[in-house]
Amino acid sequence: MEKLIRGIVDFRKSVRPGYKDVFARLALGQRPDTLFIACSDSRVVPNLFASSDPGDLFVVRNVGNLIPPCGASNPRPSEDSEAAAIEFALRSLPITDIVVCGHSECGAMTALAHGRAQLESPSLKSWLRHGEASLRRIDSAIPGDAHLERHNRLSRVNVLQQLEHLKTYPLVHERMQAGRLHLHGWWFDIKEADVYEYDPGSGGFRLIDEDYARVLLQRAESAGA
Ligand code: ZN
Repeated sequence: MEKLIRGIVDFRKSVRPGYKDVFARLALGQRPDTLFIACSDSRVVPNLFASSDPGDLFVVRNVGNLIPPCGASNPRPSEDSEAAAIEFALRSLPITDIVVCGHSECGAMTALAHGRAQLESPSLKSWLRHGEASLRRIDSAIPGDAHLERHNRLSRVNVLQQLEHLKTYPLVHERMQAGRLHLHGWWFDIKEADVYEYDPGSGGFRLIDEDYARVLLQRAESAGA
């Protein structure tokens, strides 16, 4: 806690003066174009690894970056929090992209890989059921992932599974069909501080370095054209 309080003092002294105009503008309203869904893990810091600024990302964070799916016969999912954030983001903000970002060494994925029945926390045990479908497809190998430890392979498969859950939301489905919304699967490697994106073309995760970033930017440009 001391670090946070000292951090506020530092921010006021050295950072705040440079951001005064930015925050004065943001006080009038937010216009983020990306809904970013990530794990609650303290080591995953999208504002740092994607060099994003205040106002850039509308963020949902939870244990395991999970999205409860809507049922086939039930247009509403079993939990309200994520659904509310998705609805608000799509109805009230100019969101054109949704990123689901998993990460290496994820505690939620490790617990899931070991079997959530062993967990003592009843709420966590229940919440992680939204990752069961990921666990069932862990052996449908993603190209290039064989070298990863099991919990990290699960974490990458889970990103793809949660993208599928997102598509069960009628509003997400509609916007995608209309070409107004694009989904992306990202994965943050904590040890290397590298970010990967799922590439549907190759069926695997690719490091977002300068070369691949160029490809992604071109793709985004033609999608927006
Ligand atoms: Zn995690």
